[in-house]
Amino acid sequence: MPVERVILAEPRGFCAGVEKAIKALAWMVRVFEPPVYCYHEIVHNRHVVDQFEAQGVVFVDDVSDVPPGAPLMLSAHGSAPEVVDAARADGRVVVDAVCPLVTKVHHELKVRARKGYTVLYVGHHGHEEAVGTMAVAPASVRLLERAADVDALDLPGGADGSGPEVALLAQTTLSHDEWAGIVDRARERFPDLWMPNRSDLCFATTNRQAALKALAGRCDAVVVIGSDNSSNTVALAQVAEDFGCPRVVRVNDASELPDDLSGTVGVTAGASAPEALVDAVVARLAPVSGIERAAVTVEEEYFPPPPELRELLRGLEAALGLLNSVPGPGATADAPVRRVLADDRTTAAADVLEQIAALG
Ligand code: SF4
Repeated sequence: MPVERVILAEPRGFCAGVEKAIKALAWMVRVFEPPVYCYHEIVHNRHVVDQFEAQGVVFVDDVSDVPPGAPLMLSAHGSAPEVVDAARADGRVVVDAVCPLVTKVHHELKVRARKGYTVLYVGHHGHEEAVGTMAVAPASVRLLERAADVDALDLPGGADGSGPEVALLAQTTLSHDEWAGIVDRARERFPDLWMPNRSDLCFATTNRQAALKALAGRCDAVVVIGSDNSSNTVALAQVAEDFGCPRVVRVNDASELPDDLSGTVGVTAGASAPEALVDAVVARLAPVSGIERAAVTVEEEYFPPPPELRELLRGLEAALGLLNSVPGPGATADAPVRRVLADDRTTAAADVLEQIAALG
């Protein structure tokens, strides 16, 4: 039986933080002679990483592998303070593409630790965002991955509220349901638990999960596009299962689609997966009755380029008059840096990826 219909989740794919990081690295590729270095995968998507590697970007897991004076970008997941310091040593040109929503969690952890709190951090062991965040105050933070970890904590304090002051923070890309079980248990054990007014679970994660929840129960199968090391992609697959879809398939791209999908197929993509991969998956599914778009909200969030990059581009323009000779997103022969940076809001990272691919 062929695929009858595809239901496309909206929003899906690139979030504002990923847009910012990809566009920033694309600028680095244009401005500097290769190699440009990047600490960790700029975003967790193999196709994006491959495209940048083809342009001479070298991804490293240790900043000591980056030569003194070399251009270096720090990934969207956020880096440990000692990594940022080490990166900035030895005259490297460092641009930090950390998502501002990750920076928010770093700040919350720093402040709570300074005030003497024990901070419970809900995240995935070994994930780059979790590693970078916990390194902000390692002596004050404990990692929780499941509700049972709350019970296992060797902290004084019971339901009467006695014991240390405790705060609860989270990795931005958790699934809401993953988070909810832990927060309930932590509130039971620590009634005076401090939590930020605004949830650490980011809007992009929440919106993509909400869109998927709305369609999962109507589908014979759901295809989630994204890498297996992308936390929000894995969370999406879990959401589809939890919300009633009998078959959930995670794929890196269309070539990994199973041949036996049929009926109504939902399609979504993690926050680091390019829309071109979605287009290719839908084309391969070839639904006989067409495509339905299931939107829960329209995202208008925008994160401007990292401040170091803005400074760098301004410096280049002022000192060298170089910018006009560098082909870039929105750059034309008469486009001064101010105009280019203003155009950044309407420049899509997907288009930028296509442009750098065309550079050969
Ligand atoms: S998923 Fe959320 S926290 Fe992560 S880069 Fe995107 S907007 Fe930022």
